[in-house]
Amino acid sequence: MIWVALLDLLTLALNMLMLPSAIAQSMLLPGAIIPPVVVAVVLAWRKPRPSWFEGASLIVGMLLILLSVALVGVSAGGEFYERQLNVMLFVAITAIIIFGIPLAWTVAIAALALGLYLVFQVQNPAIEHGSAVAGTLFFASGIFATVAARRIITILAQKTFLFELRDRRRVAELAKANDRLELLAKTDPLTGIANRRWMTETLDHLWGNDKRCLDGAAMLMCDIDHFKKLNDHLGHSEGDRCLVEVANIIQENIRRDRDCVARYGGEEFLVLLPGVTEEEAVSVAERVRRSIEAAALPNPGSRVSRSVTLSIGVAVQTADEAISPEQLQRQADAALYLAKQSGRNRVLLHRPDPAVHKHIRSTR
Ligand code: GH3
Ligand code: MG
Ligand code: MG
Repeated sequence: MIWVALLDLLTLALNMLMLPSAIAQSMLLPGAIIPPVVVAVVLAWRKPRPSWFEGASLIVGMLLILLSVALVGVSAGGEFYERQLNVMLFVAITAIIIFGIPLAWTVAIAALALGLYLVFQVQNPAIEHGSAVAGTLFFASGIFATVAARRIITILAQKTFLFELRDRRRVAELAKANDRLELLAKTDPLTGIANRRWMTETLDHLWGNDKRCLDGAAMLMCDIDHFKKLNDHLGHSEGDRCLVEVANIIQENIRRDRDCVARYGGEEFLVLLPGVTEEEAVSVAERVRRSIEAAALPNPGSRVSRSVTLSIGVAVQTADEAISPEQLQRQADAALYLAKQSGRNRVLLHRPDPAVHKHIRSTR
């Protein structure tokens, strides 16, 4: 609307500059209708209103603007009479192209413009009635083409909008499916905890590019004692249930926000404890071992106890000792091996020299 009004006012201003002042002044009064009409329509459209009100205000506003343009020509008279009617049609065509409005409103504006053109041309003393009608028909074909073009633009815009919506939804669905896949690929399906891949990623991330965890960290390699016997005596599905229980118990004994537990092999769990001291790591390991023991999950075939027990190898990397996660894991493995050798159901801390491996606790 503002655009249409600017166009009108620009045409008027040009006329003022180029025409004799008497004619220019006669154009002023009808031209003065435009600014208040534009202000009224803009005010009416500032807030969301019922559709009929928006349509009515726009059509009435356009009618007044077109009328004002035509009246400018009538006031100026002579050659300006027809010229202003042409300007009026040009204004209407501009409005039709610019306004993204319902088809009915567009048709109404087109009909108003042509109606005004016909009425004023019939009264134009300079031309015959027949040529007035012929001119109207000529411009009607142009306006019809403009309305059709506007309709096509609107349909294309709506289609593009709908395609965009559909694409955005598909991208969101794909992202969600990707996240789900990613999670599935990183999770152990039986216990629901991280799998080996996730743990490897976590270690790489934590150690960073220089493969060194600056805060210090500990690894606990946990292995269920005589688990094969449990399967043999109670069946594979009971073995599965035991794995789920053990995973839960380990999770309950570590810090959810910082520590990380992964099912590393069949009945092996690797726990990562970032930023802990040797004593803290051993204490966590011992707490896990005792909790498993206290859960008294049956393992009738075990040679250690009638219930499920856990052996844990602990390796700790201090802040000033540069050691890769693979090395740390190997140390935890070595400690676990010794824990198994020395009777199972125990926590063993890795020491650099195997001869001085420290036996933290044995229940046997
Ligand atoms: P050790 O005390 O020396 O660790 O003896 P173990 O019997 O626990 O160790 P071993 O490596 O001999 O046996 C591990 C068993 O774990 C063998 C395998 O059938 C079983 N196992 C591995 N994955 C699964 C699983 O997903 N479910 C069940 N039920 N058993 C599994
Ligand atoms: Mg094992
Ligand atoms: Mg085992």
